[in-house]
Formats: sequence, structure tokens, C-alpha cells
Amino acid sequence: MARYNGPVCRLCRREGMKLFLKGDRCYTRKCGFERRATPPGQHNVRRRKVSEYGVQLREKQKIRRTYSVLERQFKRYFETAEERPGVTGENLLRLLETRLDNVVFRMGFATSRAQARQLVSHGHFAINGRATTIPSHQVREGDRVEVREASRNSEYFKQSKDRLRSAQRPDWLTVDADKLAGNVTALPRRDQMPLELNEQLVVEYYSR
Ligand code: SF4
Repeated sequence: MARYNGPVCRLCRREGMKLFLKGDRCYTRKCGFERRATPPGQHNVRRRKVSEYGVQLREKQKIRRTYSVLERQFKRYFETAEERPGVTGENLLRLLETRLDNVVFRMGFATSRAQARQLVSHGHFAINGRATTIPSHQVREGDRVEVREASRNSEYFKQSKDRLRSAQRPDWLTVDADKLAGNVTALPRRDQMPLELNEQLVVEYYSR
């Protein structure tokens, strides 16, 4: 499974906004973007007029990097979103939000999508009773996502119960902290996806 292995704070600086890729650290003064908000590279102070294409490209990169999806896979998500009825941009975000690693993160089992991805690929989760190690697995309405029996007594999950109880999560997900399990009660609408991203620019990017 290919993924980006470079420095992640650099991605926030490149996009000019916090993408919250490092979990708890993103909320502290150690955040790389808080300390240095300039774009990476030697010529970071030069101001350039950004073209329409440049704006669309940056928005596409922001969304892709937020969910840690590689280019080819992101394009496939876009093509699937286009084929589905409804608004393409919203469909795209919904496909990304319903990835298993994102759902595990949104439920509060992990502090970042990267951590959620690792937990899933290490086999700690099951969907509707069946173990899965595929972070990109698409969850569906009504699915139950739970920590597998064999992992429940691990120190990590024992300690995560308190965090699960206090975690803020979107309306389309519910969690029972004691059972280390959650449900996907609906598929998210745009207003239930708390993202400061303009998905319409991605539609324009791929429609050129
Ligand atoms: Fe981005 Fe988090 Fe790094 Fe801050 S700490 S720059 S929000 S990844």
C-alpha cells in the first residue's frame, strides 16, 4: 500500500493552512505551521500571482493531502463521484469521509488519520463482525465498526475509552465507548462534513 512518507508539516506549510495530519501535536505550540507559516523551499518569500489553474490545483492538493490519498487513487475517487447521482464535489467528499481510516479517526479511536490507518492495517478493527485491514474500505450506512476481540485488552484501547467518551464526533456516527464499537447511522451530508475546503474547485480542476 503506497503512501506519502515525507515530512507532513511541510504539507501544511505548502498549502498555507493547518491540515491536522499529526494528531494531538497539531493543537500545541509545537505545530510546525504555527512556528513557521511560510511555504517550504528556498524561495518561499517571493510573492507570485496565482493563476486560476493554480488555485484549483492547490485546493485539490489540500483535499488529497487531508485524507492522505495518492494522486491516482484520488482521481479514481473523482471518477466514481462523477458517476454517482447528486453533486459531484459532495459525492467526492463523501467517498473520502466514508473510508474506514477516516471513520475510525472521526469516531475518536485515533488522533489522526495516519494513526487510524495504522490501527486498521494492523488488523485491530472489524466491520459487521468481519476483520479488515484495508484503510480505504468504504463503510456503508448501518455498518458497525468495532475493535476486534483480540485487541480490546491492549493498553492502547483500554486507555482510549476516556478519550472516546469525550470525543466530539459528527452526527452520522455513534460510539459506545465501553464496547469499543460504533455505528454508521447515515451517510454524511455536506453540512456534516466539517471541512474548510472548496470541493467545487476540484470539480473545475478535473473538468479543464
Ligand atoms: Fe500541520 Fe499538524 Fe504539523 Fe501543525 S503539527 S503543521 S497542523 S501536521
